[in-house]
Amino acid sequence: MEGRSINFGAGPSALPEDVLQEAAKGLLNFEGTGIGIAEISHRSKEFGACLSKLESHIRTLLDVPQTHSILFTQGGGSAQFSAIVLNLLARHRLLHPELKDEERVMDYVITGSWSQKAAAEARRLGGGKVNVVVDSREFSTKDKKSFDNIPPHGDNNNAYKFSPDPALIFYCENETVDGVQFAHDQASPASFPFHRLPQSALLPLVGDHSSSFMSRSIPHLADHAVIYAGAQKNIGPAGLTIIIVRQDCIVDVDAAAKLGASPVPITMSYKTLADHGSLYNTPSTLAIYVAGLVLQRMKNMGGLEYYENVNRAKQAKLYNAIEESEGILRRKVREDAGSWMNVVFDVAGDGADTRFIAGADKLGMKAMKGHRSAGGIRVSLYNAISEKETDQLIEYIKEFVRQEKG
Ligand code: PLP
Repeated sequence: MEGRSINFGAGPSALPEDVLQEAAKGLLNFEGTGIGIAEISHRSKEFGACLSKLESHIRTLLDVPQTHSILFTQGGGSAQFSAIVLNLLARHRLLHPELKDEERVMDYVITGSWSQKAAAEARRLGGGKVNVVVDSREFSTKDKKSFDNIPPHGDNNNAYKFSPDPALIFYCENETVDGVQFAHDQASPASFPFHRLPQSALLPLVGDHSSSFMSRSIPHLADHAVIYAGAQKNIGPAGLTIIIVRQDCIVDVDAAAKLGASPVPITMSYKTLADHGSLYNTPSTLAIYVAGLVLQRMKNMGGLEYYENVNRAKQAKLYNAIEESEGILRRKVREDAGSWMNVVFDVAGDGADTRFIAGADKLGMKAMKGHRSAGGIRVSLYNAISEKETDQLIEYIKEFVRQEKG
């Protein structure tokens, strides 16, 4: 549509135009009710059907097994930093009431600023002890200060020190700020070390998939206790959080509190969400509706596999263009750890980052300024960015490089 830019922002991010046009109709008149989606009761049968459809899309697209429930809430990934701690410490209390707080260990894999934030929240809430399984900065080849890699887990070089019976094990699949991601190819040394986890059927493994959800399949999905994501990167507007939770992690938090666990705010308890079909309180009706339309479109296009292939191609082209810039653009993270969703790099020379951004802006390519804590450039290639739009950016990069070289 005329006047729309290509939005390479890290989130909220672009949505498919045809979905937005369809959603505009639903905003005025949802499913022929004469009432818009932002106005209709969340208890109406029409909205109920819309919520069920979203759940069913997620279940089929990701192949979520019946052992896991799909819950919807608000508060984003940030609220889940707290909710995972509260719910899984309650579960641990019910399983092991005899343990003292300092004996309840929460394992955190730190690979970037979001996992660091998650661990900080676990420390702040207390009720257990945070064990840093690994901190990837120790493996930075640059300065021991950068989140620029995924730590090794090979036979002679295993960086991950998991605890034997933790209350939870946290990792962040894609670090949106730092641009590092666990490799999707399970044979890669930068994949998540599933084989290094303690051997137990019901591991409390928690994956923050906020910025990669629905961009490709999730390895070992069935082995997770909790996977969560905000909608605002790949599937819809902000205000909707999706939680895939194994049923043994939906526990009676009040019974755990009677045994000494911290009380859990009622809207943060997974049991409240599950018992009320995610309708304990008013959900984000518009975001649920739009996410449903986005996933319906995804199904029509060929499902997750289609996006996985397109996303693989997009990131490969962009990293190649950086590689071929002969030092004008410099990638910030190690090759095997480069994110498919958030590609981060610097531009060589004084003020060159600003020149790069201003030039792109003139061509209608927007929101590529790196996160305020990281600087440089960050290009986000979420699902709604097409391969053609990625090609447009690459053309611009080639022209920019020609000019910089003079
Ligand atoms: N985790 C990751 C990986 C994120 O990228 C973000 C936000 O961008 C969050 C957590 C926090 O999400 P929210 O802003 O929805 O609370």
